[in-house]
Amino acid sequence: MIGSAGVQETLQLRREELLERAERARDEAARAEIAQIDTALARLERGEYGICVLCGNDIEMTRLAAVPYADRCQSCVGH
Ligand SMILES: [Zn+2]
Repeated sequence: MIGSAGVQETLQLRREELLERAERARDEAARAEIAQIDTALARLERGEYGICVLCGNDIEMTRLAAVPYADRCQSCVGH
């Protein structure tokens, strides 16, 4: 029954679980992005930045502008 105390408690519990899950997802996404950025920086140092790791072609400038740490060209990503 919506509005009863038990339901409100359950909804509050679900709400906390969702918020906790969102926070964890954000942490993981941030860690993954940092790792990609570190890799891109290393590739820049080695002079490999902007070259697709799969096919060896240049990565599109528009793609690098959108995703500066991209390591694959548009066609290898498959969009
Ligand atoms: Zn490629």
